[in-house]
Amino acid sequence: MTGIPGRLVDMHVHTTDSPDAELEAAELASRAAGAGLRGLGFVAHVDFHPSDFCTGAFSAGGYDASFGRAAISGQEVMLLKGVEIGEPHLFMGRAEEAMAGRRYDFVTGALHWVGDRLLLDAEGFAGSTPEELVERYILESTEIASTSRIDILAHFGIWRRGLARAGMPVALDEAAIWPGLLGRLFEAMIDRGIALELNTAGLRRREAVTYPTPAVLSTYRRLGGRLVTLGSDTHGEPHVFFGLSRGAEVLAAAGFDRAFFFREGEPVPYPLG
Ligand SMILES: [Zn+2]
Ligand SMILES: [Zn+2]
Repeated sequence: MTGIPGRLVDMHVHTTDSPDAELEAAELASRAAGAGLRGLGFVAHVDFHPSDFCTGAFSAGGYDASFGRAAISGQEVMLLKGVEIGEPHLFMGRAEEAMAGRRYDFVTGALHWVGDRLLLDAEGFAGSTPEELVERYILESTEIASTSRIDILAHFGIWRRGLARAGMPVALDEAAIWPGLLGRLFEAMIDRGIALELNTAGLRRREAVTYPTPAVLSTYRRLGGRLVTLGSDTHGEPHVFFGLSRGAEVLAAAGFDRAFFFREGEPVPYPLG
């Protein structure tokens, strides 16, 4: 928890409202206050892929209650309530049904599965080439960006985690190999006001790089992308809010002097400096 600058907003923090995370929202809120963060964007997994570990676990009422407890203990930290919908191009209707009647500050869309392959795991790459799967990953991300009612695209490039786990080289540079496909993805995002998340969880893993990579982030900016969020993908100890300051540096190096949080569905800028 050292080296966390003040005034950043971590827009990707999982609470015990996700079955793969271990810290209560209230606990995270007081930790964020202690760390001097400006704000915290909670997300709960909303999954429907038949093979996903988190499928069926989302409880809108339970999440409301834990967010309420966090709001009491949150001190000066701005608390934002979001969801992370897996494969929203396939499951948006069911996700919205599960969320019905409740207000969320933001909706994050995430692609974990390409067909029946979980690209976060080594097995996801068995019997195929990385190029084939990464191309499909970009195409499906574009479908999400073109069709799903989301505010933020999460951890673009997280397939590197699966590649690294499979012991394969992670240097594959999608910015160089598929500039046209990335262009279509980012055009769709810019057109529909969808923010690109810079996710710092990869910095603590074997691949040691943000999702997306600095090269992809630069492509997004060159094409006119300005909406970026910062998120640690915290799931528990020992990596609470990990890599945020490094992430802010990566954004600054790519030319971004501000990042955004979302409140009641609207992007709000804050300075990174
Ligand atoms: Zn995710
Ligand atoms: Zn997540």
